[in-house]
Amino acid sequence: MLKLDIKSQSLEELESVFKTWGEPAYRVKQLLKWLYDDRVSRWDEMSNLPKTLREKLAEGFTLGTLELARKQGARDTTQKFLFRLQGGALIESVLIPANPALYGEVSDRHTLCVSTQVGCAYGCKFCASGLDGWRRNLLPYEIVEQVLAVERWRAQQPGLEAPKPEVQAVKPVSGAAVPVSRFIDNLVIMGMGEPLANYDNLLKALKILNAPWGGGIGARKITISTSGLAPQIRRLADEPMQFRLAISLHGATDATRNLIMPVNRKYPLSELSAACDYYQEKKGRMITFEYILIAGVNDALDQVTPLANLARRLHAKVNLIPYNRVDGLAWERPAENVCELFLSALERLKITATLRREKGGDIDAACGQLRLKTEGELAVA
Ligand code: SAH
Ligand code: SF4
Repeated sequence: MLKLDIKSQSLEELESVFKTWGEPAYRVKQLLKWLYDDRVSRWDEMSNLPKTLREKLAEGFTLGTLELARKQGARDTTQKFLFRLQGGALIESVLIPANPALYGEVSDRHTLCVSTQVGCAYGCKFCASGLDGWRRNLLPYEIVEQVLAVERWRAQQPGLEAPKPEVQAVKPVSGAAVPVSRFIDNLVIMGMGEPLANYDNLLKALKILNAPWGGGIGARKITISTSGLAPQIRRLADEPMQFRLAISLHGATDATRNLIMPVNRKYPLSELSAACDYYQEKKGRMITFEYILIAGVNDALDQVTPLANLARRLHAKVNLIPYNRVDGLAWERPAENVCELFLSALERLKITATLRREKGGDIDAACGQLRLKTEGELAVA
């Protein structure tokens, strides 16, 4: 029988397994501390668990970790991690230090951009992640592990002090103190893949990362980005967690959006905006529109009025992002003054908007780029 990974398990699932094993409940808490606080990668490191229990755990579950295949970027700038999964596939996570409040959150210390699939089936014309199509969904633990693996990497860096205990005050679970010093305190689900197309695994992973007994990262500090899967946006609105939602809009009319995002033919703007309305009604929180500016495609001023109308109706904030070139694709970023003009035209219409100077543009930080490059190099080798 195929074993499940221990970091794909919810608290309830672990409690029920421990119960059938006749293990006391406090053992679950000890296990969780080893997994999410100490981030151990071997069963035998769990020194306060009896050997017999460790053997039962090893028999019943895998304890999977991600292998760091490549890393780019300096310590104080955006850093990109390329991880190899079991089976060999590559995924990316990007660590963005001291992020200014991009999605309405408070300015934070460390944001991690997390992948949810190997490749992507949605084939947006400008994006590196979709170039080779979709290979598979990530399992919950492979999403969770991106956070733990980056923190494990950091803990091994010479000269870096240990994270301060006050970084995250985590509520104890039923009386048990679980002191967590989380290095990563914000997540953006904007790496490779379409998160809402891997809905169940994503939600399970985010519940683990959010839970006081797991990652302890507040739901309001987790932003899920989608290319516009309207039914899943509604489903997300019905969940109890208060995640932030970002919509990759990139076009304010169906004509422009259809040109670059095939998903718009399935869920055109009328359906997408109705789903956003619903999200907003249920959650009462601000949505963010991401709008990549691509030269000659969606950067003309005729997009500004429809974009402003949509943003106003949905109380959305607009993040303008100059396009990051992708090898093999013909798209280009507009000149700086074109981006500035677009921004000021939006602001004149009283829309809250920011123009991002893409961090990490020089290290292939746009989603899917490092993986594509590495696979290309491996193919040549
Ligand atoms: N599939 C989801 C999340 C991953 S993509 C989504 O589409 O929202 C995360 C963001 O990166 C999206 O807004 C996407 O449009 C953007 N992106 C992709 N390729 C890019 C590029 N070359 N330059 C700038 N942004 C890019
Ligand atoms: Fe997939 Fe998002 Fe890239 Fe579109 S932009 S291909 S949905 S990862």
